[in-house]
Amino acid sequence: MRALSMILLLAANAFGQAAPGLPAGAPDGLALITRAELKRHAEFLASDALGGRYTGTPGQVKAAEYIAKHFAKLRLQPLGGGKRSFLQQYPLERTYLDPKGTSIAFGGKNHTTGFAVIPGKDSKPVRVSGSFVYCGTGNPEQVPKALLGRIPVVVLGAPGGAAGDRGSMMRGNRLVQRAAAVSRDMASRNMRVVVFAVTDPASSLLDNMNYRALLPEKHLLEYAGERGPRRAEAHAIVSLLLAPKGSRALLTALGCKVDDAGVVTPPSSGKSPKVAGRVSVHVREDKKFHAVNVCAVLRGTSRATEAVVFSAHMDHMGTRMDGDPFNGADDNASGTAGLLTIASAFAGAQSPPKRSIVFLAVSGEELGLWGSHWYSEHPTWPLGQIVADVNTDMIGRDTQLSPKGTVSVTPSKDHQQFSTLVRTAAEIAGKLGMTLSNGDTYYSRSDHFNFARKGVPVVFFCDGEHADYHKVTDHADKLDFAKMERIARLAYWTGWQTAQAAGRPKTLGATGSWTK
Ligand SMILES: [Zn+2]
Repeated sequence: MRALSMILLLAANAFGQAAPGLPAGAPDGLALITRAELKRHAEFLASDALGGRYTGTPGQVKAAEYIAKHFAKLRLQPLGGGKRSFLQQYPLERTYLDPKGTSIAFGGKNHTTGFAVIPGKDSKPVRVSGSFVYCGTGNPEQVPKALLGRIPVVVLGAPGGAAGDRGSMMRGNRLVQRAAAVSRDMASRNMRVVVFAVTDPASSLLDNMNYRALLPEKHLLEYAGERGPRRAEAHAIVSLLLAPKGSRALLTALGCKVDDAGVVTPPSSGKSPKVAGRVSVHVREDKKFHAVNVCAVLRGTSRATEAVVFSAHMDHMGTRMDGDPFNGADDNASGTAGLLTIASAFAGAQSPPKRSIVFLAVSGEELGLWGSHWYSEHPTWPLGQIVADVNTDMIGRDTQLSPKGTVSVTPSKDHQQFSTLVRTAAEIAGKLGMTLSNGDTYYSRSDHFNFARKGVPVVFFCDGEHADYHKVTDHADKLDFAKMERIARLAYWTGWQTAQAAGRPKTLGATGSWTK
């Protein structure tokens, strides 16, 4: 305890004069962390052009290239592990829809997007031509007896009406179970494919399919034998779920009425017009796929063999089956913008830090902390020489856990892994006029965990979940750049002080007190 305050005192002297407007003892680089730069990075990463940055998709690769370019511009050294590359590759297995062999055609149009596919047990390509037939909500009495040579269309989860599938108890997973049951029934009728019409524009299926289905531009991934979250089992036969726009078009062609809320009224005569078409689904596998992390280092001076790591995940949830991207502005364009701006501050500060600083942007976080897991198993800086990981994930919003002027931190003062690293952060938070709240509920939920798992002291800054968490509404215009600036400064200063200190951070265990 005492030794720590001595270190802080010595370190504070070494900082020299603080820039105008900064707290006493602040490193000069702190002024280089500006909301303008944070905004620039976050708005790019959270733009529609990156399509929600799903791991291994072109949008996530674009994010990685943007980050690598920024590191290169700052003249940081590549630390991807390969030859002079900022990119660290890690292996994945990928299941995806062949774009040439996957579409649904009706009404003279061939649709190659706007749907989700749950593969069937038989992985052979499916190509079925015939007339579509309206089968209500798939209850046996609604399904025509003569189905051979036809393609069944089943309404799934429409609000109210005859469907009766909607309602809080029947949403999401229940609807998928319902689809699986219909798929089994259609298999018993010798069908090879079933089309589900998702008419409700607010259907929970639009989010749900994100985890368990294949989309034309979104694959399912497997890392070291571990599947992505909640990946569903295959259905009895191929299920193709049409997004609301396509569902409306198909059902209207079949003589149904679909109102704005997605309520479906069956054809009044009981008979629908004939609609010819085709469904093709080709599921492919790629066992030699990979995704990337981005890693760079700024060499220290007198303690250069040891490093402080700053980490943030660049990936997010991709684009929904209806084409709406999960922009992931808070999660985690905000923390990645923090990482990039912190790198700018270190590179632009008057004097370099004593310890080296490693900057690590990972992918695969949303799928199970895969990128940071790979890094912790294949570190490009010796793990034993990493003295701390400072992780930022979601730092741009006020939430219940972190209202204005507050950020949540884990391991907190009440956590067994509380350390002098977090204590340093708490002292700096005080100087920046900020309050810390207990973020221990997130201890294993972001990338710092993979460093903690290996015995590296960590500190994790996070605002916590909010109404837009993992929703398509997590937009950049909802970010509070002033808040981001304060948290990024807190993270930067904590890392800087750790890089300058005589000793490495030490675990203290739960102390019940942030600062003494
Ligand atoms: Zn997330």
